[in-house]
Amino acid sequence: MTSDAVGITNLTGSDVYVPSYGPVVSSDGTRAVERYFAAMFVDLVSAPVRVPYVPFVPKLNSGRRNDGSGSSDARDLAMRWFEAPHRAVAPNHRMMIGACRSTSDDELGVTIDPELVASYSFRQRIDDDVASQSVLSGLDPEKVAYENTAHELTHQWRVNVSPAPPGGNGIGHCAENAFDNPRMFCHMHGDWGDDPHHNGERGDTVMKLHYVKRANGADSEYLTIRRAPEPMP
Ligand SMILES: [Zn+2]
Ligand SMILES: [Zn+2]
Repeated sequence: MTSDAVGITNLTGSDVYVPSYGPVVSSDGTRAVERYFAAMFVDLVSAPVRVPYVPFVPKLNSGRRNDGSGSSDARDLAMRWFEAPHRAVAPNHRMMIGACRSTSDDELGVTIDPELVASYSFRQRIDDDVASQSVLSGLDPEKVAYENTAHELTHQWRVNVSPAPPGGNGIGHCAENAFDNPRMFCHMHGDWGDDPHHNGERGDTVMKLHYVKRANGADSEYLTIRRAPEPMP
C-alpha cells in the first residue's frame, strides 16, 4: 500500500523527475483499512515493494475496468510495472497504487479487471475535489483516500458480481445501506451522485457494508469475502 507514482515525465519534451507523493494513505489510514478488513476475518499486512516507482502519469486512462470494459492504460501499467501480477505475483498479494488523476473525471479509484490484483486511488483528484466545489467539498483528503482505498480493495474480492444484488450495477456495486444504519450507504453502494445526505460519508471514517436477507439466503459483501477460498490466486 505504499507504492507511489514517482518517476520520469516528458510532458515538456525533456525528462524530469517529479517528487514522490508519499504513501497512498497515512499510517492511521492504513490501520483503518486493516480494521475494516478484520471485520471480514482478513488480515491485511503491508508488504515490501520490489519496484517502488512507476512512471508518472498525470491522467491515467483507467478504462473504468471495474465499471465497464475496454482497453485500459491502468491495466497495462499494472501488468508491466507491479511485480508482473499476471505472471509472478505471489498468492494472497494485491497491489494498491496511489495515482494522480483518471481520464474519467468523476472517478476516485479503479480496480483492474479481470485480474483484480491491482487497484488505483486517484489522490490528486481527491485533493483537488476536497478543496473545490464538489461532492467532496470540505472533507479530509486523508480520510477520503483511505475510504477509497478500502472500497477499491473490496472490489478485488469480486463482491456483488455473481449474483449481483437487486439494484446493483453487476460490476461490484450494490444499492443497499449499511448493515446497521438504514440512513447510511453501504461502502460499496453504486452511483453516489451528488446527495447532500450522503456526500459526507465518503470521508467520515465509517466504512460499513450491507447484510440483507433474501429468499435464497443472506446477501452481504462481508460473507462474500469471508467465504473466498484461500489463498487468493
Ligand atoms: Zn467501486
Ligand atoms: Zn453493499
